[in-house]
Amino acid sequence: MKNKAVFLDRDGVINEIVYHKEMGIVDSPFTVEQFKLLPDVGKAINKFHELGFKVILISNQPGVAKDHHDLDELEKIKNKMRDELAKEGAEFDAEYYCLHHPDAKIEKYKEICDCRKPKPGLILRAAKDHDIDLSKSWMIGDGINDIQAGQAAGLKTIFIGRLKCDICKLLEEEGAKPDFIAPNLYKTSIITEK
Ligand SMILES: [Mg+2]
Ligand SMILES: [Zn+2]
Repeated sequence: MKNKAVFLDRDGVINEIVYHKEMGIVDSPFTVEQFKLLPDVGKAINKFHELGFKVILISNQPGVAKDHHDLDELEKIKNKMRDELAKEGAEFDAEYYCLHHPDAKIEKYKEICDCRKPKPGLILRAAKDHDIDLSKSWMIGDGINDIQAGQAAGLKTIFIGRLKCDICKLLEEEGAKPDFIAPNLYKTSIITEK
């Protein structure tokens, strides 16, 4: 029998989004110090495992492409994430990253790829690697592109956000209405149980 999986976005789902004051932008953590795990994320991952899901990270990380940090710092951030989750007895079954960006400053990563969400490339690659039945699986994220990528791959989707929000209207306008909306990752694990 094929496996089922929850595919998780990283920033805003696993860790806090960071306000970079000097640039006036809200974005991923650029330094390892800025990486802060959100509450109950380990508990949520463990719950997904109890429910029989593989838990797979699907993340656009164009920070290297945009020269916000280097590969070394990205590795440090990944290691901090794994260490913090390990403290809660939790781990991902796999992690998939897209490092490309169409407007990259670093030429090596400047690419219109098939793996940057909203395209489903990373999810499809992960599904192949881990023998996943997409019709029994979920994409969970806090961005429109997460919902779009999930739907393009044939997944059920959960949007993490407040129930009444501007972005929810935007999701509808973009034709990317999620199947469910939940305020945090742990609450999504309860939805996937049903
Ligand atoms: Mg996100
Ligand atoms: Zn890519």
